[in-house]
Amino acid sequence: MLEENEALRRILEAVIPAQSETLDLATALGRFAARGHFATMAQPPFDNSAMDGYALHADDCGKAPWTVRVAGEQPAGFDRGLTVRPGECARVFTGAPLPAGTGAVVMQEDTDRNAEEGTVTIREAAAPGEFIRRRGGDLCAGQVILRAGDRITPQRIAALAGQGLARVECGRAPRVRVLTTGDELVPAGEALTAAGQIYNSNGPMLAALFTQAGAAAAAEHSPDDLEILTDTIRRAAADSDFLVLAGGVSVGDHDYVKPALASLGAEPEFWRVRLKPGKPFLFTRAGKTMVFGLPGNPASALVTAVLFVLPALRRFAGAAEEDCAPPRIPARLEVPLSNPGDRPHYFRGRFDFASASFAPAGRQESHAVFGLSQSNALLRLEPGESAEAGQGKAAVLF
Ligand code: AMP
Ligand code: MG
Repeated sequence: MLEENEALRRILEAVIPAQSETLDLATALGRFAARGHFATMAQPPFDNSAMDGYALHADDCGKAPWTVRVAGEQPAGFDRGLTVRPGECARVFTGAPLPAGTGAVVMQEDTDRNAEEGTVTIREAAAPGEFIRRRGGDLCAGQVILRAGDRITPQRIAALAGQGLARVECGRAPRVRVLTTGDELVPAGEALTAAGQIYNSNGPMLAALFTQAGAAAAAEHSPDDLEILTDTIRRAAADSDFLVLAGGVSVGDHDYVKPALASLGAEPEFWRVRLKPGKPFLFTRAGKTMVFGLPGNPASALVTAVLFVLPALRRFAGAAEEDCAPPRIPARLEVPLSNPGDRPHYFRGRFDFASASFAPAGRQESHAVFGLSQSNALLRLEPGESAEAGQGKAAVLF
């Protein structure tokens, strides 16, 4: 049985990152940059006003009360090429290019305008440089604004667009097929027609998890039938980068995932990880398609998808290697927890951002979906470990 770290290491090592493609900024959201970008222009590109107010000559800084003639007006936009002289000012607005000679901007709220006389009285003295946004004060030409492997977020889109870039090169989104198995399963929306049937939770859950991670994901289902399953796997693997099977991966007589994969030449690269829930997890490859076999119980399927499939998706999509592992965040336990078992146990629960604390949610058996639905985090306890309330641990957010 493999340790979790070793399993993840082997999976990440097997990922061949996708080819890159160039996308409009809006469609690149959530992707990973395929190459770095330098700023080609300074930001701001010219000295400008940080306030609606009046641009004063450098010699007039520090004077108050002080009445000056309003010699011109410069809105944001086209630079009118104004100049301010001592004893004069220019009406300026936020973002307006500053007239030559400007030593400071005094904000409108600290002035009284005398419209008839064409003057303004400065009530509060301006300090030299006040309310001036200097050219290059934010960033200089040549500065790195995006590194290869960075996720394209709305705020990085702002930095790219601010440089006039309308498109960005990023890793392709992974195509993921979820394939659930089991004779007992009925898709939501249909009627249960026989005793012993249950609804299929994993198909919609896993497709949603991978879609949320930026993949193009779709789910389908196979009964517990070796021939049908083999055929479905063959077809699904042919047009996907990732095939994620759920259920049928254990040792029961109706667990056909391993024999089906074997008949396609895909012997497991590993099967079973020292983990609870999630022990029967399987990883292999069929051609270039990465194949994951998740246990069928919904909590097991979710835990193994978060720990092993999401990192592989990130790596494929071009995330920096160190950003692929599941994000862990310090969390204080709200209640004592213990793991009397002989495998590391991942508790499902709620990480509260305000108090940076974790509390388990609902029953912790692997079939229990309600607690899962209340959870946004996992918390690992080692075999035999007992942790007190208030103790600091690391939670995995998902
Ligand atoms: P298996 O791994 O196929 O032995 O399934 C383990 C348990 O998970 C059984 O109780 C199944 O009924 C249940 N299960 C398997 N697949 C799903 C699914 N897609 N949705 C909900 N429960 C499932
Ligand atoms: Mg089954």
